[in-house]
Amino acid sequence: MAVFGIDLGTTYSCIARVDETGRPVVLRNLDGSDTMPSAVYFESPTEVVVGAAAKDTAVLEPDLVVELIKREMGRHLTLTMHGRPYTPEEISAFLLRKLAADAEATTGEPVTDVVITVPAYFGIAERDATRKAGQIAGLNVIDVLSEPIAAAISYGVLAPDTDRTILVYDLGGGTFDTTMISMRDGDIQVVCTDGDHELGGVDWDERLAEYVVETFVEQHPDASHPLDDPATVQDIRSQVEEVKKRLSTTRQRTMRLVHDGRVCTVTITREQFEELTADLLDRTVDITRRALDVAAKRGVKDLDDVVLVGGSTKMPAVITRLRKELGIEPKLHDPDLAVAKGAALYAFEETYRRLLAKGDEGRRQAERLARQAGLSASDEEAIAKRQIRTVAARGFGVLCYSPERDTEHVVHLIHSNDPLPVDATRTFYTVYDDQGEVGVQVMEQAGSVESERPEDNTLIASGPVGIPPGKPAGWPIDVHFHLDSSGLLHVTATEQSDQRRLDLQIQVGGMSEDDVARSRSALSQVRVN
Ligand code: ADP
Ligand code: MG
Repeated sequence: MAVFGIDLGTTYSCIARVDETGRPVVLRNLDGSDTMPSAVYFESPTEVVVGAAAKDTAVLEPDLVVELIKREMGRHLTLTMHGRPYTPEEISAFLLRKLAADAEATTGEPVTDVVITVPAYFGIAERDATRKAGQIAGLNVIDVLSEPIAAAISYGVLAPDTDRTILVYDLGGGTFDTTMISMRDGDIQVVCTDGDHELGGVDWDERLAEYVVETFVEQHPDASHPLDDPATVQDIRSQVEEVKKRLSTTRQRTMRLVHDGRVCTVTITREQFEELTADLLDRTVDITRRALDVAAKRGVKDLDDVVLVGGSTKMPAVITRLRKELGIEPKLHDPDLAVAKGAALYAFEETYRRLLAKGDEGRRQAERLARQAGLSASDEEAIAKRQIRTVAARGFGVLCYSPERDTEHVVHLIHSNDPLPVDATRTFYTVYDDQGEVGVQVMEQAGSVESERPEDNTLIASGPVGIPPGKPAGWPIDVHFHLDSSGLLHVTATEQSDQRRLDLQIQVGGMSEDDVARSRSALSQVRVN
């Protein structure tokens, strides 16, 4: 009975589990790599190709390859391939199926129970979409976990007895996130999170590509432009990423670009590369400073650890710069695998704790799990008592109309930093006699501070509650919010009258449970290679 942790990344994804010695290990995919490009190639109506082969097809078949789908999670949109519309949840489900299938092939064990990670800034629509992607892929999603928290778990900085403040600096392929986490009395709290979701390794690649193209054009002014040929663009794209990675460990690298019958050889040193990209690194430092300022304003001042996450933090310039800026030695160890490993540890521990809570049979299963992972009695004790308590990232409320002021405002039932899980109920009242119906509009705080102004909130769900005929103005409707420990919101609005009781389960996110079930069975007909 293995449980798995999945880092479903914007550009690369990764799957891990806890091994026989209790340590988290990343499972190589069938290409022999630890991470898989988050790319899906819709080869035919019944066949998709996921991973490196899909990424290699991107420039040549731009209309059939989907990359960066994580940016669309939680949005109501579809991408049409071979005449069929696909939601972001469905496209992500293909990534998950490939990760799971490869992991099954290498471990020989079925992949069912998983924890999937999401960025700290993801709101509930995005988290809900991620969970549904897992369900469409046929997985049982134990939990959706914040990436910086997963990273912190895998770096082992969450020792339960010490209070610490951690900065997680995550520079990935397409996004940059910086998150302050505080650990107090066993509670893990995201203090603040900031970032630039259009800044990542691809921007470093882009600078190298520009340099190579310029050099080519200088050497061969009479040849056609390299960017006019998709095959050349594809070649440049994969070469520059490779060169960039090599420059993290070697001092210089040579690239050969063949285009229009001409050959251009470009040698680039690490120093040159760092100069070409210095302003990009500056941007991450500015954003990190901004996050530190916000944390300081909230009373969190002393930084104990800096944890580097994301493949792009392997570039030596990152650690050198942060060491200088922050005066702390950053922790750097498998940055592109840390999130998946942390998710695996969390999945394992959470499963163990849930089993323990399930009576004698559960206890026996928990013991078996512990034995499989080679845990000592004291390990078991520590895990049993560890609590990973998170807090609400944002506030949630209901849009209200006040007839006296003739304005709308948001009444928040749940506030940011409320410890999870949290339940809140409030009674609202109809405005008119015989109103017939009330529209319940569920709002999520949009900015970093709670505000009752509707424009400072995002509408995340809405639905009508019927009111029996003949009821006077001021008729009560109870609204109940339940925000679970993974940050998913469940809303119920109830009208209580003598004759009947109406319950309304408000659907958050784009796909309903029925949609999910339908798409799970429809997509199971599609082969994933
Ligand atoms: P994601 O952003 O999808 O979570 P990762 O954290 O795996 O993805 O980061 C992927 C990025 O890391 C890519 O831009 C990749 O080129 C870059 N990367 C991976 N290894 C290295 C390396 N050794 N040196 C520099 N960049 C690297
Ligand atoms: Mg990542």
